[in-house]
Amino acid sequence: MFLTNQDVVTLTEWRRELHRNPEISGEEAETARAVRAFLASAGADRIVTGLGGHGIAGIFEGGEPGPTVMVRAELDALPIEEISEAPHRSRVLGKAHLCGHDGHMAILAALALGLSRRRPQRGRAVLLFQPAEETGAGAAAVVADPKFREIAPDVVFALHNLPGMRFGKAALIEGPVSCASRGMRIVLTGKTAHASMPETGLSPVDAVARLMPALTALGSGGPMDESFAMVTVTHARIGEPAFGIAPAHGEVWATLRTLTDAGMDALVAKAERLAEDAARAGGLSVAVSYSDIFRHCENAPEAVAHLRRALDAEGVPHDRGNLPMRPSEDFGHLGANAPAAMFFLGSGENHAALHNPDYDFPDDLIPIGARVFMRALRDLLG
Ligand SMILES: [Zn+2]
Ligand SMILES: [Zn+2]
Repeated sequence: MFLTNQDVVTLTEWRRELHRNPEISGEEAETARAVRAFLASAGADRIVTGLGGHGIAGIFEGGEPGPTVMVRAELDALPIEEISEAPHRSRVLGKAHLCGHDGHMAILAALALGLSRRRPQRGRAVLLFQPAEETGAGAAAVVADPKFREIAPDVVFALHNLPGMRFGKAALIEGPVSCASRGMRIVLTGKTAHASMPETGLSPVDAVARLMPALTALGSGGPMDESFAMVTVTHARIGEPAFGIAPAHGEVWATLRTLTDAGMDALVAKAERLAEDAARAGGLSVAVSYSDIFRHCENAPEAVAHLRRALDAEGVPHDRGNLPMRPSEDFGHLGANAPAAMFFLGSGENHAALHNPDYDFPDDLIPIGARVFMRALRDLLG
């Protein structure tokens, strides 16, 4: 074990300090400052800041040429009010670390401690703290940042803690590991009319009423294979809260989800056709826009092999768990240019679920996650 008991105490307290001061996607300035301070005190050879927003990378250089191995954590918390009596509960109203990104950061901080005491022999280790994971925007912004070119990894690893799975057990598979998803916003525009003469206007009521079940029917789950598709209507509205006006404006919001990016292209085409048909039938104009776009996460076989070896060497039990899983992860963007693999680490079968108001990262996962990544780093970099 490369961490001392005192390290674990330090890392736990550092994690809890992050937990007290959550910042949501795109606003992670203070969190980035705390990360930067930790990396600096650990003696990182280089610290790259402002990556795709508040992203930050700590680089530990080896003496000889070799591969660049990146391990990634996330900076952001969620806009949800925490329910907790813990002394380290969030001090910020309506915001909290309810996905465990504070814990993932602490795991990378542990790696910084280990790497500072013994530099890699060859290549370099890059600890990436990416912004805005929860909105799906952060990883893409990091990859698009010109500064990323200098730290372009040859292989990328990540983990996510996973409530509902036995504490300390890992899940890992090759291929698609978490879903592609995107938010689709359909805006229908007609013409208002006096409520007594709706026939003189163009109302989106029928179109919205037709679209909601039609979108849902495009995909309601099924087995987690290439055919998996799910459409969840999340929001809709028509007109204004008034009785005198037949409405002109309608919106339907839906989250589209598939196992693969290719499946997403097909689902998007079907959903757009439904929107166009509904608009045409009502004589309405239609505008479709997207946000929260997540690619599917693809675990590359060679990257998975490294993680498997590390899990075995560290005695962490692992199997395929419930993978692939329905939620999305923006780690997929980081895997677009280099082999990447993400594994899941059980937070306990009865642990509060991710994004629940009473969720908190289990501190005892910090040394487990750190041991696995450090083993993978040593195997590749010495
Ligand atoms: Zn989350
Ligand atoms: Zn998360």
